[in-house]
Amino acid sequence: MKPVTCDILIIGAGPAGSSAAITAAKMGMDVLVVEQRPEIGVPVQCAEYIPAPFVGQLNMGTGFVVQKVSKMRTILPDGSGTEMAAPGFMIHRDRFDQALAEKAIDLGAGFLLSTKAAKRTEKGQVIIKKASGETRIIGPRIIIGADGPRSRTASWCAVSTRDLLPAIQYSLRLRAPMDHTEIYLSPEFYGGYGWLFPKGETANVGLGMKHRNAPLKGIRPLLLEFVEQLRKTDKIEGQPLGSTGGMIPAAPLEKAVYGNILLAGDAAGHTHPVTGAGVFTAVSCGRMAGRWAAEAIKKKNLGLLSKYDHEWRDLFGRTLDRAREKRRIMEREWTRFDQIIKSCWIGFR
Ligand SMILES: Cc1cc2nc3c(=O)[nH]c(=O)nc-3n(C[C@H](O)[C@H](O)[C@H](O)COP(=O)(O)OP(=O)(O)OC[C@H]3O[C@@H](n4cnc5c(N)ncnc54)[C@H](O)[C@@H]3O)c2cc1C
Repeated sequence: MKPVTCDILIIGAGPAGSSAAITAAKMGMDVLVVEQRPEIGVPVQCAEYIPAPFVGQLNMGTGFVVQKVSKMRTILPDGSGTEMAAPGFMIHRDRFDQALAEKAIDLGAGFLLSTKAAKRTEKGQVIIKKASGETRIIGPRIIIGADGPRSRTASWCAVSTRDLLPAIQYSLRLRAPMDHTEIYLSPEFYGGYGWLFPKGETANVGLGMKHRNAPLKGIRPLLLEFVEQLRKTDKIEGQPLGSTGGMIPAAPLEKAVYGNILLAGDAAGHTHPVTGAGVFTAVSCGRMAGRWAAEAIKKKNLGLLSKYDHEWRDLFGRTLDRAREKRRIMEREWTRFDQIIKSCWIGFR
């Protein structure tokens, strides 16, 4: 089979992959994105909060925004807590991912849906497999792995973000509109937290925490108890309208460049190890990966790819490493919940 060639093959059409595609296509690259899902952004695996300043930087309008929020309230088991300004937007995450992909397509990037990057050959070519079973060989000059927390591309580099936190979420009807997000901390939520994020007339109610055995199944009973508690305090009503879940990386990789492969977003652990927020960093690091890949091709110098590591580390390295350290303390000292939680959770800063 003759390989299909392209400048840059991007694996995964989440925020990191589509942002890389936008940047590289703008720089005149021949870009191909493969996405295993038949529909971009579906199912949503996200609590759908993004910080307000980020939306301004995107230059994509606000078609995906559901509502504004102004503050984040953190609530402890005894009902006490704290409040901090956290201006942001609750979004339709599927529409957000689709808007990014549409922008990349408008700029000339090719997208193949229902197509999985299956294998990398010794020659550095990538075998892609369509849902129909048809396979093709792609011969890219550079690969960007933006394939999420269980990145196959990362495994080709013999690395992985193995430290993953399971998270599950229900959509429930809100009893009254809310203009803030709520975070619930409890000794029962080992190394994690519960959340109530308003989304118009509904709310995303979820729980992400460490759980060694049967991760997603294991935390569901605790989420159900948490939902019951919110029902009793009259925040939500009725039965869940839908549910979702996923894994959240809890540790950034040391580096994200391996030969002609760049990793971006959850694939590189570009996710805040304490809060689990990753959309903003996925977009930012995706853009950087796309730009350095294009620069390296234009200047015929793969050595330039190492600048991607310098740039994302410069911008996010300290924050991610510090949060990673806080996570370590949290997990080690969790039995002393009352003493440590205020120094580890961002709301008490
Ligand atoms: C329950 C939950 C709640 C969250 N809430 C928030 C929040 O409120 N705010 C926030 O900022 N972050 C949140 N996050 C984190 C955020 O969703 C991620 O950090 C973000 O999606 C990372 O984007 P990405 O592009 O790196 O990866 P993804 O969005 O995971 O995209 C990766 C894409 O790659 C595709 N893919 C995977 N393997 C292959 C393959 N072999 N071939 C082809 N395609 C492949 C996948 O189908 C997927 O579409 C949450 C995460 C979870 C699980």
